[in-house]
Amino acid sequence: MPAAGPFVQGLRCRECGRSYPAEALHVCEWCFGPLEVAYDYEAIAFSMSRDKVAAGPRTIWRYADLLPARASGAVDLGAGFTPLLRADRLAAEFGLRELWLKNDTVNPTGSFKDRVVSVALTRARELGFKVAACASTGNLANSVAAHAARAGMRSVVFIPADLEVPKVVTTSVFGGTVVALTGNYDDVNRLCAELASEHPSWAFVNVNIRSYYSEGSKTLAFEVAEQLGWRAPDHVVVPVASGSQLTKVAKGLRELYKVGLLDEEPHTRVSGAQAAGCAPVVAAFEEGTDFVKPVKPAGIAKSLAIGNPADGAYALDEVRRSGGALAAASDEEIVEAIRLLARTEGVFAETAGGVTVAVLAKLAARGVVRPDERVVALITGNGLKTLDAVAPVCGPTVTVAPNLEAFEAAVQVTDWEEMTAQPVRSTAP
Ligand SMILES: *Cc1c(COP(=O)(O)O)cnc(C)c1O
Ligand SMILES: [Zn+2]
Repeated sequence: MPAAGPFVQGLRCRECGRSYPAEALHVCEWCFGPLEVAYDYEAIAFSMSRDKVAAGPRTIWRYADLLPARASGAVDLGAGFTPLLRADRLAAEFGLRELWLKNDTVNPTGSFKDRVVSVALTRARELGFKVAACASTGNLANSVAAHAARAGMRSVVFIPADLEVPKVVTTSVFGGTVVALTGNYDDVNRLCAELASEHPSWAFVNVNIRSYYSEGSKTLAFEVAEQLGWRAPDHVVVPVASGSQLTKVAKGLRELYKVGLLDEEPHTRVSGAQAAGCAPVVAAFEEGTDFVKPVKPAGIAKSLAIGNPADGAYALDEVRRSGGALAAASDEEIVEAIRLLARTEGVFAETAGGVTVAVLAKLAARGVVRPDERVVALITGNGLKTLDAVAPVCGPTVTVAPNLEAFEAAVQVTDWEEMTAQPVRSTAP
């Protein structure tokens, strides 16, 4: 078997702890629990230092010691090391004192999925795969198609047929095979589980390669901590689709402490955000159960539309144990939050970002996210991919003939300089 990341010991079942070799395996054959990558943390602590990280590439691969594939063979379009922006105007809207935005809209294909795909395809190539595949709600398809092109691999991606046009186009342009299925994501995922056993020579990043893929999300936590001066945030708000990102962000923070990159054990509260149209983890949180009951997805936040989330129960457990909360945002609230984020901070997010900001607003209003906390919100996808969500409410302020009189008759230019110096308004003009 080709070597994985330098400190990988193998795979381990999350439920029963049984060990497996670091191959293309994702479920335990004894108990059907998910397999996770196991590392030699003592050796990592010896190898890794803040200086070494700082001298590394300005991508996720600066944390290669804590990843399950080798940086030297990375399938790399430059994912990660995205800006962490202090957001004082948005904080003021929510009555918070210290709010930061992790701006993952600027990744190579416009979403956080570039992190997980760069890791997954790097490991897939190490294992000898020549075909990259996935079941996607959109962003994963973009990223798999792009990274496969970069790696010289074939790609076969499966998407629900009702996806946003930009997500279909920006997948197809990379030249792979794009299969649109007449069903929702959960139908797509079910077919892909069958296809993965039918075609064991395909690297399905979120099926048979999932154990490696999901590790990529830890880099969000690594970067946030490094960018805060090697401190963990007090509270992080994470969008939830399968629940993998939320689970791995929490794991990433614990790992940094384990290998000595954080001085103090992190007590970060982790909160989750879902859209009201597809909120099975929120429902379980509110009902106080451990069981995440599948739902049929609806609404505009298609990138988060997983009705039967694979890591839903783990995300729920992480939220509860950390003292966080889960809440849902309606389609209207999502659109409003996209606009609020854009006009207060200059960041244009897709619907998933609207979900995160809208839920942050709710949790702040409820006193769950507190003014004394250092808060980080993960803004995971680019607004250019979901233009339809805001197009009905965003257009020219006025349309006029191209002459001075027409402009001055239509637009009041008084007070503009003064207004910019004033505190933020809470509503749009
Ligand atoms: C996939 C996705 C998520 C959430 O991912 P999970 O790990 O499946 O919970 C969040 N935001 C965006 C933009 C995504 O595409
Ligand atoms: Zn097991």
